[in-house]
Amino acid sequence: MADPRGFITTPRLGATRRDVEERRRDWKEVYPGDSIGRSLLPIISDQAGRCMDCGIPFCHQGCPLGNLIPEWNDLVWRDDWFAAIERLHATNNFPEFTGRLCPAPCETACVLAIDEKISGGAVTIKNVEVSIVDKAWDEGWVIPQPPEWLSGRTVAVVGSGPAGLAAAQQLTRAGHTVAVYERADRVGGLLRYGIPEFKMEKRFLDRRIEQMSAEGTIFRAGVDIGTDITGEQLRERFDAVLLAVGATSARDLPAPGRETRGIYQAMEYLPQSNRVVNGDEVEAQITASGKNVVIIGGGDTGADCLGTAHRQGSKTVTQLEIMPQPGTDRTPTQPWPTYPMTFRVASAHEEGGDRKYAMSTKEFLADDDGNLRALRLVEVEFVGGKFTEVEGSEVELEAELVLLAMGFVGPERGPLTEGLGLEFEPRGAIARDGDFRTNVPGVYVAGDAGRGQSLIVWAIAEGRAAAAAVDTFLREGAGSTLPVPIAPTTRPLMV
Ligand SMILES: Cc1cc2nc3c(=O)[nH]c(=O)nc-3n(C[C@H](O)[C@H](O)[C@H](O)COP(=O)(O)OP(=O)(O)OC[C@H]3O[C@@H](n4cnc5c(N)ncnc54)[C@H](O)[C@@H]3O)c2cc1C
Ligand code: SF4
Repeated sequence: MADPRGFITTPRLGATRRDVEERRRDWKEVYPGDSIGRSLLPIISDQAGRCMDCGIPFCHQGCPLGNLIPEWNDLVWRDDWFAAIERLHATNNFPEFTGRLCPAPCETACVLAIDEKISGGAVTIKNVEVSIVDKAWDEGWVIPQPPEWLSGRTVAVVGSGPAGLAAAQQLTRAGHTVAVYERADRVGGLLRYGIPEFKMEKRFLDRRIEQMSAEGTIFRAGVDIGTDITGEQLRERFDAVLLAVGATSARDLPAPGRETRGIYQAMEYLPQSNRVVNGDEVEAQITASGKNVVIIGGGDTGADCLGTAHRQGSKTVTQLEIMPQPGTDRTPTQPWPTYPMTFRVASAHEEGGDRKYAMSTKEFLADDDGNLRALRLVEVEFVGGKFTEVEGSEVELEAELVLLAMGFVGPERGPLTEGLGLEFEPRGAIARDGDFRTNVPGVYVAGDAGRGQSLIVWAIAEGRAAAAAVDTFLREGAGSTLPVPIAPTTRPLMV
């Protein structure tokens, strides 16, 4: 156990962010210095020492990867950082992604979060995690781990988001020859082209890809499976195929005027910005510069659009959410240790913009040239499980750019899924059995494609678990020693 009195003597302290005015002028991560992990070093051992090693660590229940949180908290407190990164990498291939981007369901499940007013709040688990991995990279402890033995079996992974990358690393290290196919020009999935630089600088992603390449994973970017190579051809060329194609079909808003110029999906807007930030030229880029911007959708993708719009020099930004504003405390239906839907302030929200709740869009209004000029909105009440308009509450909101950030309905259906004859779940995900197998022999599915829109931590857990299933298949009954953190049906704890 770390400090037995740590949580009594040390108050919870998070990471300091840079001044808002300063960070709105650049694209770098919002924390000071070269890495958040390094900036946390002066405080993080004391923060890790707040962990009570409480016997039944509910944080394990909160983390889909089953990260060994009390163990590495203790090791950090004892200054044994090398052992800490070994314990962290034992369950998580990419702690620098989760340590920056995870909403940390482990922290809402921490025993210190049962009554935050008494305890001062959960252990800052996510910060400890990113400190361990950033220090490990700084110290040169994260090195390629190529397999000592090759199985002679081959796997094609389709899609290079966190699920595909985690599966590919597990299978490569298990001795299989793995090729990752990605239709975009660079690998990384949403880590590359969805998540903005100010949340995670791409150099952290590139560093991992280099490590994976040195271990033997083969990357083929710019190859659209289903079109450039058919799914059947992959099945012929490889012993197994793992689909990690994400849930990239965006939910739309079919309100009158939707065809007006100036309305885009968040995932049309964010990738262009990420490309430009990384030095590419984008013709006719969708930009918020000088515009009144409205973001429809109050979640994380909306917050990413908000931070991006500010950095592009928007005039105003309003983020709309149809649900009422959540409270700051847990409700009886979201007790500890579940992940509660409480009011949160992302770094992008600190930087400005207006958040409006319980608002629904009735119509997009165009000027005489067919360009967007405003939205007609109405207040709504959520009663008896449905939304009802509040009489007399209609307003017009000026906007030249609307970004739709209302979530994703599932994986795309097209040449890949149709060519293979894949079956789907009623809710849109690719159907699979308890071993991540689709209805097509030798074809597996992991990540958002099989789970539906989720989180990076779940995608990594899916990739790891699906890799174990593929490994078992390739070993033809000899069994796999790869870890299985979750089943395809595992879901966050709810009441
Ligand atoms: C804007 C945005 C911000 C987000 N921010 C966060 C966050 O801060 N924290 C968090 O935990 N989660 C976040 N998420 C969710 C998270 O990014 C996803 O849950 C996660 O990336 C899913 O991983 P995946 O590997 O299943 O799929 P993806 O990351 O979607 O990767 C799938 C890849 O497959 C490729 N592909 C698809 N079809 C083909 C094909 N036919 N041939 C070849 N390649 C193909 C795609 O191009 C893509 O690169 C965010 C999502 C979005 C959209
Ligand atoms: S991956 Fe997420 S849930 Fe797991 S320990 Fe890290 S921050 Fe917590």
